[in-house]
Amino acid sequence: MDLRLGDIAEGNIVDFTYEGKGVVKIDKFIIFVLGGVIGDKVSFKVTNMKKSFGEGEVIEVLEPSKDRTREEMEIKEAVGGMPLVEYDYEKGLEWKREKVQRDLEKIAKIKDIDVKPTIGMDNPYRYRNNVQIAVGVEDSKTVVGFFEFGTNDIVDMEESVLISEKANTALKTIRKWIDKHDIEPYNRDTRKGLLRDIGIRTNYKDDIMVILVATRKDIPHMDELIRELKEKDVVSIYRNTNTAKSSITYGSDYKLLSGDEALMDKIGDYEFKVSPESFLQINRTQAEILYNKVIEFLEPKKEDRIVDLYSGIGTISIFIAGKAKEVIAVESVGQAVEDAKHNAELNDIKNISFTRARAEVLFPKLATDEDLDLDKIVLNPPSKGCEKEVLEAIIDADPQRIVYVSCNSATLARDLGYLTENGYKLKEAQPVDMFPHTAHVECVVLIEKE
Ligand code: SAH
Repeated sequence: MDLRLGDIAEGNIVDFTYEGKGVVKIDKFIIFVLGGVIGDKVSFKVTNMKKSFGEGEVIEVLEPSKDRTREEMEIKEAVGGMPLVEYDYEKGLEWKREKVQRDLEKIAKIKDIDVKPTIGMDNPYRYRNNVQIAVGVEDSKTVVGFFEFGTNDIVDMEESVLISEKANTALKTIRKWIDKHDIEPYNRDTRKGLLRDIGIRTNYKDDIMVILVATRKDIPHMDELIRELKEKDVVSIYRNTNTAKSSITYGSDYKLLSGDEALMDKIGDYEFKVSPESFLQINRTQAEILYNKVIEFLEPKKEDRIVDLYSGIGTISIFIAGKAKEVIAVESVGQAVEDAKHNAELNDIKNISFTRARAEVLFPKLATDEDLDLDKIVLNPPSKGCEKEVLEAIIDADPQRIVYVSCNSATLARDLGYLTENGYKLKEAQPVDMFPHTAHVECVVLIEKE
């Protein structure tokens, strides 16, 4: 390939990467380009050249794809968080389905399954119940927004199509206060300055929690901001102190400045306590669909003993516990286990045992226990999938049914390859669109003993 760093070239985008970059092929050589959607003919600048692939940035769309959309609402914020936003939504859902199908065929060598159409959203905007918006400096001006895809550049925005209208009102109130008092922004190059990020969380009632992240505890004119936010229905205001040099948003020091200590959220019929640091699925609507699919596939019965591996704050366990005899939940993060116990109590559920442990350490021990007598397993590992020890232990435990919830179809396929070689069969595969306009694919599958 005779492309060089800095060259300008032309090509057609034929696919998306898992991050949502465009894939361009020139004489079998692959270049991943920032910007553009499948079907576009683009000109791009080469920004990185490796032996087996290159990277680039779209300069101009020369011939737009027939699937390119211009959303009626002008999206002024960084599309970094939504790389597929200019690609037809239905086409994007189909791309996600095909991605799962391809990974199953290529990686797991499973050919006799039809992956179901991706379940999308009727209104695929304002779906995030949790965002972190950066505050920074560009050309000596204060900017507030998300990072441009793959960069540290903050794209200034007035409001976001990813959060509720009320959350946007809170954001605008903070923005006005920053401008009025010239609140010092954090400079990510010099690592100096005060205000770093604005965290906004909302619950099912659209109650709002604001978390201001600053390098010092003394934020000026805070009383005025608190007063104004309260007028805009913000029910909880925190300050988080973060002096770290890394790009991590929150430090460990949270201080409640006004209002409620936590928000109460609801997914389906269940309640969850949301502290500023708790994890909860970002898309409530789709999480409920996902968890109901888990129930449909798992078919929990009153006599079932079920293991929930990688249980997080206990959401899946709580969804299935009422229909089962007993749930054994395993999660490695201590705070998540504490939240899970609290959430079970909140929902008056008593038949779940939560253990803090690494699945690959604890589950092989459980699986060889003669008395375990396990009927079903549900697992929802992080993106890297399961450790081999977990898969081997699943075979040992010999459950009738396995429901695997995955956020990465490549590692899902790798793990399914192992299970299907060892006496199990893939029965159903259902992608759910948790993150509209991104290339992120969430998928739930049913595996049964042959
Ligand atoms: N099912 C939950 C969360 C799944 S996210 C929900 O829907 O909300 C994956 C979880 O696996 C995270 O909570 C993470 O802390 C946990 N985890 C990561 N590695 C693990 C390991 N080796 N053993 C057990 N849990 C692990």
